Amino acid sequence: MSDSRVTDEFAFIQSVQCLFQKYHRQQTLVANGDDAAVFQPKAGYAQVVCVDTIVEQIHFNRKTMTPEQIGHKALAINLSDLAAMGAEPHYFLASVAIPNSWSEQDVIRIFKGMQPLADHYHIDLLGGDTTSSPEQLMLTVTVLGEVHPQVKLLRSNARAGDVVFVTGFVGHSAAGLHVLLSDEDTAEQKRSEQQALVEAHQYAQPHIEQGMVFSSLAMQNDMRFSLNDISDGLASEAFEIATASEVDLVLHANQLPTSSALASYAQQVGVDALEWVLYGGEDFVLLGTMSVKHWLEVEKQFAKHDWPLHLVGRVMEGKGQVWLEHHDHKEIVLTRGYNHFKTRAAGDDEAGDEEHERSDQE
Ligand code: ADP
Ligand code: MG
Repeated sequence: MSDSRVTDEFAFIQSVQCLFQKYHRQQTLVANGDDAAVFQPKAGYAQVVCVDTIVEQIHFNRKTMTPEQIGHKALAINLSDLAAMGAEPHYFLASVAIPNSWSEQDVIRIFKGMQPLADHYHIDLLGGDTTSSPEQLMLTVTVLGEVHPQVKLLRSNARAGDVVFVTGFVGHSAAGLHVLLSDEDTAEQKRSEQQALVEAHQYAQPHIEQGMVFSSLAMQNDMRFSLNDISDGLASEAFEIATASEVDLVLHANQLPTSSALASYAQQVGVDALEWVLYGGEDFVLLGTMSVKHWLEVEKQFAKHDWPLHLVGRVMEGKGQVWLEHHDHKEIVLTRGYNHFKTRAAGDDEAGDEEHERSDQE
């Protein structure tokens, strides 16, 4: 294929469809390519659906991500939302607005970047839309899945007395972006130590399987979970659970999982690792709460699969605040989740600017 820009919409669409020709699901009745696709939902199941748009310069940047990684990210952020509902993903749709600055080949590479996740989860591409864009590339992915109608892993499910957990390391993606943006000529050896961080940024994996384990525990053992995926940062997601549930979440500073790679890189560049852990987004691990009486059973399920599960705090009666508890005192955690339409978050002078730096940097 030549390295030129897209000149024929239909030829482009055909190239995309060719990548996803083999259908995983028998329930796909009319595949991508007609006016609309048709699928047969499983009887007795509830449909779960979500959509996310990523925009060049705001959510991704060609200097720090390859086209394949951009495609992976667009699908992963949606799968992560399904994971937080405990759903099994089945289908996706992808719409792209393409500026002249992108070659056809590079846009096709974005779609190739979606293939491994689509194959892994056996999800079919049901359709999409293709249009031109004046400047930045925009990519919208919609994911559909199913969950048992009884299962509701809602943000509003936290209760005072619950424990707070995360299903993996947080802050890695933000640290990985920092590695990629640092201009220093880093020695090869150091690079390899930081590779785990870079990979967490470029190939964050949604915790679909973990979400489905919460689902089946909720259904079979009648357990109550609140669940949220960490896309905007631990502090911000904790705040969403706290406000939705009208409780306070207390995070224990010494229990927040910090990998040695993150700790040593933070020290090396003079950044407080806690900044990344609390405010770095896009790790796509799950944050949740559950009754303490079920902790051992859930821990056992996770250990069976060799998945991490970290107890990081507790839920208290309150009005929707998040606290960080140190050994002798606790402090209020300011929520600094990324907000596209705010440059400054209330009560925090640097919040907005800093967050823009995280996502917008060249
Ligand atoms: P229509 O004019 O009926 O909307 P389009 O020409 O936009 O049809 O699209 C033709 C077919 O190709 C549709 O089935 C649509 O879902 C699919 N399609 C278009 N763009 C994409 C894309 N970027 N990714 C996947 N499928 C696409
Ligand atoms: Mg169309």
